[in-house]
Amino acid sequence: MTVQDSGRQDSSRQDSSREGSSSLWVGASQGIVRVLLVEDDKVDRMAFERLIQKQKLPFACTSVATLQEALGVLEGIRGGPPFDVVISDYNLPDGTALELLERGVDLPVIVITGAGGEEIAVHAMRAGAFDYLIKDLDRQYLKILPITVENALRARRDQEELRVLSHAVRNVNEAIYIFDLDGTIIYVNDAFTRTYGWSSEEVLGHNVSMLVAESEVSLRDQSADLPAMAGAQVEQSHRRRDGRVFPALVSFSNLYDERGLERAEVAVVWDISQRKRSEQALRESEERYALAARGANDGLWDWDLRTGEIYFSQRWKSMMGYSDEEIGGSLDDWLRLVHPEDVEHLQAHLEAHLSGSTPHFESEQRIRHKDGEYRWMLARGLAVRDSEGNVYRMAGSQTDITERKEAEQQLLHDAVHDTLTRLPNRALFLDRLGSALARAHRRPEYLFAVIFLDLDRFKLVNDSLGHMVGDELLVALGQRLAQCLRLVDTVARLGGDEFAVLIDDLDRPEDALEVSHRIQQELKRPFNLAGHEVFANASMGIALSSTGYERAEDVLRDADTAMYRAKAQPEQRPVVFDPAMHASAMVLLRLENDLRRAVDRGEFELYYQPIVSLEDRQLWGFEALVRWMHPERGLVSPGEFIPLAEETGLILEIGCWVLEEACRQTADWQQRLKHRRPVHVSVNVAAQQLTHMGFLDAVDQALDSSGILPGTLRLEITEGVMMESPELARVSLQRFRQREIKLHIDDFGTGYSSLSQLHTFPIDTLKIDRSFVANMNGKGENHAIVRTIVALAKTLNLEVMAEGIETAQQLQSLRSLDCEFGQGFLFSRPLPRDEAESLLTAEEIPT
Ligand code: C2E
Ligand code: MG
Ligand code: MG
Repeated sequence: MTVQDSGRQDSSRQDSSREGSSSLWVGASQGIVRVLLVEDDKVDRMAFERLIQKQKLPFACTSVATLQEALGVLEGIRGGPPFDVVISDYNLPDGTALELLERGVDLPVIVITGAGGEEIAVHAMRAGAFDYLIKDLDRQYLKILPITVENALRARRDQEELRVLSHAVRNVNEAIYIFDLDGTIIYVNDAFTRTYGWSSEEVLGHNVSMLVAESEVSLRDQSADLPAMAGAQVEQSHRRRDGRVFPALVSFSNLYDERGLERAEVAVVWDISQRKRSEQALRESEERYALAARGANDGLWDWDLRTGEIYFSQRWKSMMGYSDEEIGGSLDDWLRLVHPEDVEHLQAHLEAHLSGSTPHFESEQRIRHKDGEYRWMLARGLAVRDSEGNVYRMAGSQTDITERKEAEQQLLHDAVHDTLTRLPNRALFLDRLGSALARAHRRPEYLFAVIFLDLDRFKLVNDSLGHMVGDELLVALGQRLAQCLRLVDTVARLGGDEFAVLIDDLDRPEDALEVSHRIQQELKRPFNLAGHEVFANASMGIALSSTGYERAEDVLRDADTAMYRAKAQPEQRPVVFDPAMHASAMVLLRLENDLRRAVDRGEFELYYQPIVSLEDRQLWGFEALVRWMHPERGLVSPGEFIPLAEETGLILEIGCWVLEEACRQTADWQQRLKHRRPVHVSVNVAAQQLTHMGFLDAVDQALDSSGILPGTLRLEITEGVMMESPELARVSLQRFRQREIKLHIDDFGTGYSSLSQLHTFPIDTLKIDRSFVANMNGKGENHAIVRTIVALAKTLNLEVMAEGIETAQQLQSLRSLDCEFGQGFLFSRPLPRDEAESLLTAEEIPT
């Protein structure tokens, strides 16, 4: 230690041997050392003051001459002593400096004794004096006085520092223990006790090894080379008093003595269990994620935005058939593989997430496999931000979703395509039609047309050759239609045997007709289906965009209307829609509405037309014929509304009512005219009724509730009905027969019934269609037909009936041909109930 020249006030001079002191007089307030000089000898006082002046000591000196004065000065002022040091003569007029010391002055006191006062000095030191000086005659002691003062101040400062430090060490949160060079624990703080559970008494004097459960590899040689750890921070496993082990981060530092020799080691301990647990949890979660990704066969990517590098996992690369070295580590390496159409999409999603506008990054794109094919990949990820919110990392996964995508696309395709023909369905057709309409609105010169096409008598193919062949026909038809058209045109199957064609971008409206003629031509060639040659006819209706449409549905509706018109006309010819057709379609629509209401309101009535035994002109029975009393239009004939009723299904309800009413009325007549031949009634039955499940019940119900005589109800069925679904018809007819209901074939001769099949049906009567009767004057063709029918009936053992007899001549001819029964205007028109009733009692039906 160097002794500072006491005369210097330069506070910048550092004492190099003692860390922390900034100047000789540190510890004094503001660099001035406040000295209380207790000295009764005036000469000595002056000598001291001279010394201060001469050496320019930074002393502020207060002098007192007596002990009482000194005590007064020291005690008089509150809030801490106003001095840094007391220099006191031992012998004072009113006592000794010992008394000052005994009063417990909390300041360093330097005692000055007279010559030969060593003994006194010992007393003073024991009493707590900091130091003593012995007055000599030539006042040499003054020379070392500044050094003594300095020492006193320093000692005091050290003492204060130690107090603060030991307080701090005792109270810090970290456990601290100090051990000497042998490893013996010499100090532990309060936190140590809290952390380890040992009290200081239990560990002081023991070796540090008691604390260590198992040192880390790097510290195996800890005890052999303690100083080597000084300044090191190491992780160790430490043991608590209860035997539990915890991970400790220990910071070691050396403690030196005044001579700079190492004396001990200070260890500061942090219990890092929590941190370890978090680390472990993080590691596990990372592992779990990696495992999950591997399990899911996903690839991983990790993008460092500060360097721009992306780490792609091996799996990520192998998903596209690449090995590790074949793909670099930048965003471009990724984007390069993305399908050109999807790059923008991917970038937009990345940017959206990086800018914070989406909570996750998720994007589906096609990525080129090494084999050149594209595969659908789902990339997902999450950005990581620093405390300022800047993204510095983004990482995620990549999943191969090709199969899912393909399935989705298949579903999408299926949703708008017909499964049988693979053609677009109605939904897709309307969609394309909508686009064409939009185009037509933008460009007035743009023209398109829709052809609505419906197969004629497709049901016949289905019923006679089976559904498989029917399906084949539809598929083949679809293919042929496509052949007639350009690629830009759309052929769609709307359902059943209905097809639609959208002819795009026509030069002239007439071109649409040309296309339809071409289709018709194409259909003339027979289809070869399962060994059968099948001819298909189609009715076609055409709607042109020039009509001016707003909605796709309307175009299709009008083409449909035109198709119906085409079907209704005898010659096969496509029909172009004109608005007048729409008007008549509207009339039909209104009629349909009215008809629905008519059922509920009971606007129907039955008329009865007599059926006469031609032999004796006796009334044999009636045919019940339905009439509709329309509130505004008056009487509507069945020819007008029955087809509509059949189309809408209302025929089922109407038919039931007719059946009930006819049976009820006839039973009533039979009841009242018991003594006469029972009157018969014929009721017309439509195709739908015959094949409807509930019809038989309705018949039973009508029979039961009316009480009509058995064998007097007859059902009239047209040939077509029987031939459309012969199997079903046969079963139904059989059931009627079991109920003693007789069956008439109505309008016989107009249908397609093959004579070979006729006898296989359980029928009773043939009703010759009136068209044959109408023209049987003379010995013409009709006459021959009627004769043949009558002969056929006799052969098959059936009754025969003629309808539409208008003239006596017709009656004459029929009688001569031996036709048994007849009806017609010659005898009577269909009559309302009351008028019909009056005929019941007539002897003979007049002509
Ligand atoms: P249909 O079963 O052939 O009935 C005979 C039709 O010929 C009746 O027409 C009748 O008025 C008419 N007629 C009778 N004698 C003559 C004649 O000498 N000369 C001419 N020109 N016509 C004659 P209507 O009543 O208009 O019935 C037409 C068709 O409506 C019926 O033909 C039948 O198929 C159907 N129909 C009538 N009522 C019903 C019903 O209740 N149910 C069903 N499903 N169809 C019915
Ligand atoms: Mg009839
Ligand atoms: Mg008829």
